[in-house]
Amino acid sequence: MKLREIGEFGLIDRIASRAARGPAVRIGIGDDAAATEPAPGRLILTTSDMLVEGVHFDLSFTDPYRLGRKSLAVNLSDIAAMGGEPRDFLLSLAIPPRLPVEFLDRFTDGMLSLADEHGVTLIGGDTCRSPAGLVISVTLHGDQRPERVVRRAGARPGDRLFVTGTLGDSALGLELLRRGVREGWAVERHLDPSPRVAAGLALAAAGLATAMIDVSDGLLADLGHILEQSGCGAWVEAAHLPLSPFFRERAGGETPDPQLLALAGGEDYELLFAVSAEREGEVASVLRGTGTTATAIGSFTAGSGATVVAGDGRELALPRGGYNHFSSGR
Ligand code: ADP
Ligand code: MG
Repeated sequence: MKLREIGEFGLIDRIASRAARGPAVRIGIGDDAAATEPAPGRLILTTSDMLVEGVHFDLSFTDPYRLGRKSLAVNLSDIAAMGGEPRDFLLSLAIPPRLPVEFLDRFTDGMLSLADEHGVTLIGGDTCRSPAGLVISVTLHGDQRPERVVRRAGARPGDRLFVTGTLGDSALGLELLRRGVREGWAVERHLDPSPRVAAGLALAAAGLATAMIDVSDGLLADLGHILEQSGCGAWVEAAHLPLSPFFRERAGGETPDPQLLALAGGEDYELLFAVSAEREGEVASVLRGTGTTATAIGSFTAGSGATVVAGDGRELALPRGGYNHFSSGR
């Protein structure tokens, strides 16, 4: 079916008819603005992420269902990194007229399947035509008690550095997709990442994380943000980086430097967080039941910047940062 057969409002109706309505929503899709009612005494957290065809995704190897899931997942990951409870979101689309309605139906189904898994509600958005590629913008609201919100600032020298899940899988998956591979663990991690919402909430509720960020641009780049905002430095033990069995088996054959992929590869959407050394032992039990575990990979120090040390204690030469949209040569 062609988009022009159903038009903008036909498409909005198709999206709206699929969306459930959460208990905090007073006015949902269909008016000039939505209205929601947060629980008393909670801070509202707001995050927005844009996905642009050709920059963030390639339609030659991204199916609409998982693209819908990922578009919401990257936002859920940001709320998770604040220790927040995600609630409702807005979806704005700039759509090339060539895109069939069936693509957008699958996209919506995927996005709403992840929304359902996390109990979040679609409350509105905007729809227009794009003269070039598909552009997807999602704005997600969450909330949390003010004293539980976890910032990038707050890590102190002596704190231990943890990361959930495994690192490098998404970057490896992207590399494999570019080479024509269409399935397997790493490809799945790239196309359909798992936002660590339950883990973020558990860490916040326990008051365990002194600082937190999600790994979207790569471990070193995102650690850099924590270090800058916390005003300290850190060392990372390369030998302790959590790697999946798939990554251990395949990364060596696909890239000259697997370790670099784990240190600088983006889009793992894991949580990177600081915990005081006295409470380090609580991490495993706090994360029990959240669907993920965390690994201690280093410590915070006085000073600035990150140092990566190899198993033999040697310091590794580091690449500059992770993915940066406006830097040259990447
Ligand atoms: P307005 O012209 O007042 O901005 P629109 O015609 O753009 O209103 O939107 C009508 C309703 O549909 C609004 O509730 C808006 O939030 C919602 N909406 C528009 N596009 C989308 C979308 N892609 N997904 C979900 N809701 C949408
Ligand atoms: Mg509008």
